[in-house]
Amino acid sequence: MPDSELGPIARPLRVAVVGAGPAGIYAADALAGQDDVAVAVDLIDRLPTPFGLVRHGIAPDHAKMRALRETLHHTLDHERVRFVGNVEIGTDLSLAELRRHVDAVVYTYGASGDRRLGIEGEELPGSLAATDVVAWYCGHPDADRALVEQAVARARDVVVIGVGNVALDVARVLSRAPGELVSTDMPQHVLDALAAAPVERVTVLGRRGPAQATFTTHELRELDTLTDATVLVDPADLELDPAAEEAMDRLVARNLAVLRGWTEHAGSPGRVSLRLRFHARPVRLLGTDRVTGVQVERTTVDAAGRATGTGEFDVLPADLVVRSVGYRGHPLPGLPVDERSGTVPHEAGRVLREGRPSPGEYAAGWIKRGPTGVVGTNKHDARETVKALLADAASGQLRPGGDADDLVETLLARGAEPVLLANWRAIDAAEAALGATQGRARTTLHERAALLAAARAAAAAG
Ligand code: NAP
Repeated sequence: MPDSELGPIARPLRVAVVGAGPAGIYAADALAGQDDVAVAVDLIDRLPTPFGLVRHGIAPDHAKMRALRETLHHTLDHERVRFVGNVEIGTDLSLAELRRHVDAVVYTYGASGDRRLGIEGEELPGSLAATDVVAWYCGHPDADRALVEQAVARARDVVVIGVGNVALDVARVLSRAPGELVSTDMPQHVLDALAAAPVERVTVLGRRGPAQATFTTHELRELDTLTDATVLVDPADLELDPAAEEAMDRLVARNLAVLRGWTEHAGSPGRVSLRLRFHARPVRLLGTDRVTGVQVERTTVDAAGRATGTGEFDVLPADLVVRSVGYRGHPLPGLPVDERSGTVPHEAGRVLREGRPSPGEYAAGWIKRGPTGVVGTNKHDARETVKALLADAASGQLRPGGDADDLVETLLARGAEPVLLANWRAIDAAEAALGATQGRARTTLHERAALLAAARAAAAAG
């Protein structure tokens, strides 16, 4: 262990990582896996479960991607890392209190809010944020079941706004035949609601052209593998503006080749029509008591990639509108978050307060860089942040402070119920046991009470 300018380091550097999703786990892993600075990492999450969007964001029919949790679990098992779930910073413990307990904090709590469209009718019943739908089908304990299930129960015509991977996830899940979902870990009530949903048409709307869509080719191609749905594309929607033609990269070329292959498709009775529309900007959601349609304006894309309205309008019928236009980070009480970007101001992962690095505060993942990239992007991102933290430790700017009580003891003393690794293992086992009764590998426990009851079983077993 190196000595700092201020003398030998007496005890491991205590680091709290706030958010046990991929970014937090990768940050904990980068901290635990180095030998320059002795560390003790508390990996805190407000949910009783780890894995963030790997558990509550990656679509349940993406079993291979969800299996990433097995790899992430190795970090939870590391002797320098302690999982502390069911603890909300700002509620169970203030940020100031947390900072007194540890020497450094890494914020990795992501971007769980939704961006708004800012158009009339957005708040009508039947108009949902993709974050609501995703939380529901993944069994997030805070999901609003009634809100989503009332909308899904009458969803014959669905319009999904946005052409990112989340939009494709939602469109795909809603278009799947019930038999395609039974082996997932979706809660049973989600499977039942999806099986009963009267979905006939799903339209995915891009406000710009196919060259500007942010979905990836693998996710796009997958739409063509659905057993009961046909993907439809109008060839006129695939015409490229000259600037996009000029700037076409391999990703766009691959997406276009897939999309062009679908222009010959025709819908057939009994199958869901899954239509991808481009150059269609939502102008207004229609309806009085609830949403009945979406008014769209045809657009062209200018040389700068901006959509310009053409003044040509049409209306798409819709019983359910899903606004999939991106996630948004929220402030943690006591932490500055830029209003416009929804991210924490930072410099190479060091949190900035009033433009200057704030000692002992770091950020990684979506709250640092915004809601972009795949899960693996967070690995590189977290490493950059941890590198800054370790450099600060090496230079003596960051060093073990006083002898504050152990975080978990403080939490227990004030009646909080932290979920530690053994408790999480008990939840994990309970989900596997529930899945076994339904002939599948796992069923997600979706209620906080059920998660905590399962967690307590570990405590009872000693
Ligand atoms: P995203 O890729 O940023 O897509 C947002 C979409 O919303 C874009 O098509 C955007 O169009 C559109 N949009 C924004 N404002 C709009 C408005 N006012 N009206 C109409 N359309 C609007 O975000 P995301 O789909 O939420 O995904 C977030 C991240 O998670 C991405 O990095 C994604 O790749 C990743 N993810 C990956 C997977 C996977 O790998 N399978 C699955 C899910 C998510 P403009 O471009 O015109 O703004």
